[in-house]
Formats: sequence, C-alpha cells, structure tokens
Amino acid sequence: MTDNKTIQTQLIHAPRKAPQYIASIQPPLFRASTIIFPSTAHLFDRHWTDAYDYSYGTHGTPTTYTLADQLAQLEGGTHCLLAPSGLSAINLVNSTFLNQGDEVWVPDNVYGPNMEHLKNLQQRYGIIVKVYNPIDANSFTPSAHTKLIWLEAAGSVTLEFPDLKNLVKKARQANVLIALDNTWGAGLAFNAFDFSDEHLSVDITVHALTKYPSGGGDILMGSVITRDQKLYHQLFKMHATQGICVSGDDTAQVIRSLPHIRLRYQQQAKTTQDLLAWLKQQPEFAQALHPADANSPGHAFWQEICIDQQSAGLVSVIFQANYDISAVRRFCDALTLFKLGFSWGGPVSLVMLYDLKQMRVLPNTHLQQGLLVRFCIGLESAQDLIQDIQNALQQIEK
Ligand SMILES: *Cc1c(COP(=O)(O)O)cnc(C)c1O
Repeated sequence: MTDNKTIQTQLIHAPRKAPQYIASIQPPLFRASTIIFPSTAHLFDRHWTDAYDYSYGTHGTPTTYTLADQLAQLEGGTHCLLAPSGLSAINLVNSTFLNQGDEVWVPDNVYGPNMEHLKNLQQRYGIIVKVYNPIDANSFTPSAHTKLIWLEAAGSVTLEFPDLKNLVKKARQANVLIALDNTWGAGLAFNAFDFSDEHLSVDITVHALTKYPSGGGDILMGSVITRDQKLYHQLFKMHATQGICVSGDDTAQVIRSLPHIRLRYQQQAKTTQDLLAWLKQQPEFAQALHPADANSPGHAFWQEICIDQQSAGLVSVIFQANYDISAVRRFCDALTLFKLGFSWGGPVSLVMLYDLKQMRVLPNTHLQQGLLVRFCIGLESAQDLIQDIQNALQQIEK
C-alpha cells in the first residue's frame, strides 16, 4: 500500500487490479448484488431492457450472461434467462403469458409440479387447464381461448416421446404459443428450434439445468430460451419485476460442467441402453419404457426427431401386476448403487417409484397396469448397475 489510507479502509478498497493479459481456463466469477457504475453518465444512460443490463445483481452479471449465452447456443435459441430452479423457469413462462380466462394444454405425462402450479392458477385466475395424450395429436383440440401448449419430449417418468411434429403444426395453425420442457433432450438429442425437414420450431424452451448442465446433483437452476425478441422482452420484464435471479457461484459451477455435458449425456445414454436390453429380458417386469425400445410409446416419433438416435439416461419399468407396493418398496430398499431420490443427470444412479393411477387424467391405453420404477442412470458401469438390480430382484423373491 503506497497511499495513506487507514488499514481499515485499505482492507475494504484493495487497490490491486488484474492486468488485462491475465487469463484462466474458467472465466472470472462475478458475485454481485451492487454493480458499481463508473460515472453518473453510466447510471443515467442505462436502459434496463438492453441485451446486457449491468445495473443490479438481479438483472445479471458477466457470469450469468456467459452461461445464458452458452445455453442459448446449445439449444439453438438466441435469448436466455436464468431462474433459480427448473420449476421456477416453468413458472416464469406460465406467469408471463397466461391471463385470466386463457386456456393452456399440458400432456398427460406432464412434469407433476407444472400441473400443480397450473391448477393453482386455474383456481385463482380462472385459467383453463386441458390435458392431451402426447402420442395422439388429435387429442389436442385448441379453441379460440387457447394461449399456450406445453410439450415434453420425452415425458420424464413414462418416457413417451410425443408426436412433436403434428402437435407443433396444430399449435401453429391455431396461433398457440408453444413451450417445450427440454430437460430430457438437453439441447443435445434434437434442436427444438429447428427439428424437422420443414424447419418446425417451438417458441420457448425450458431446461432444468439442475439435471445435465449441472451434472453434479448439487445445483438447482433453470433456463428459459427463445429466438423471438418480442417473447423475450415479455419474459425479461416478468423476470426482472419478480426478482428472479441466480447466484454467481452456482452459475460458475454450471459453466464449469458445460464443456463435458455432451460426453456425459452420451455415456449415460449408452449405459441406459445396455441396461434397457437387460431389463427387457427380466420376467418381473411387464414393460420397459425408453423411447429407443420399439414397444415403447412414441418410439417412431423419437426415431424421426432425435439426431443420431440420441436419448437421455432415463429408463422406467412397470412391474408385473402381482407385485404389490410392499414388494416394490422392498426392491427399491434393496438396491445399493441406485440411491432413492428425485432428479437425474448426476454421477450417481437414482431410483424412484410411482403409482401411475395417481398421475394420469386420461384413460391409458399404452401403459401396462402395475407399479412403475424409474431408473436415472449415472456414470457407474452398466455391469455393476445390472448386478445391483439383479440382487435386489432376488431379495424380493425371498
Ligand atoms: C427436474 C425437472 C424439472 C424441475 O427442475 P428443478 O430444478 O428440480 O425445479 C422440470 N422438468 C423436468 C422434466 C424435470 O425433470
């Protein structure tokens, strides 16, 4: 220290500046509530709707904009907003676009908490929630009040791949806004903004970054991406006025994981397909659900849409109807490598059990009766995971 300020002040106003040429593999991390304006001119000339509004931490920092730019590129969009969880990103879309009396359509296999949120909007604001069968585009019958349709490709529990082309075409014709929960495809399995020969596109994607982009099972975050400037501005305004924001530290963790997202995705997909081949052979299961399986609902749509036949690391099985809840619980409890927990996309394989009867609205014709167990495949070897399931199956037979 060369000047004559007190130590106390020097501890706060450290004079060292990083030289311009300094570079590191990971970009510098900004943690900020306050953003310091270099002058009153900057303060008064700022426009909070600018592409990069450096005015306050909630509006973003170079760290959050770095991740947002990368995600927009990954998914084929141009604008991205970050939210503190995938669910928060979903809610941002719902609360930006749904007004009193509007109708919204969701697939029967919709991510459960999205449905809960919409039911809440239904009660409070008279929003009408309608349900369609994802593999039957005819079940989507928009009216003059229809504002928004949600798509999931594939559904995250039963893994039906939807008739994406026809659903999107119908929505376009009816002037309905199209939002896709893109967590399963992760921007890797297909390009949601240009997914067919006819250059079909959704309007908005939502991604639970909690899954593959984080990759660690330790960060919660979500994104909303679009290519439409007008939609972006509507979303941006709601995002800003609701104070939706993410921490610099969490953002830096996701930035650090993105360079290997594709490698992890592909490896987890391969392990999952190896497991699928084995699961299909086991007499305890009535049905194995994974879009790559010819008997899985929506298989042909998946084949048509997904680049290089890519898929995420999720596979579900439906137990034969004679396995009751206590048997399926014993199975889940007997697994050792598969941990019992929600979420996916991390290094550790997970298992979760579901009772479809409590999750569906429409009569179901494509899923067997029985309790469903979903496996989320981590980075362990297929051989060890198969062994784990085999051991657990043997224990419930006892
Ligand atoms: C996990 C998940 C979400 C929600 O993400 P969170 O970050 O856990 O809130 C949304 N959609 C799908 C398909 C998911 O799997």
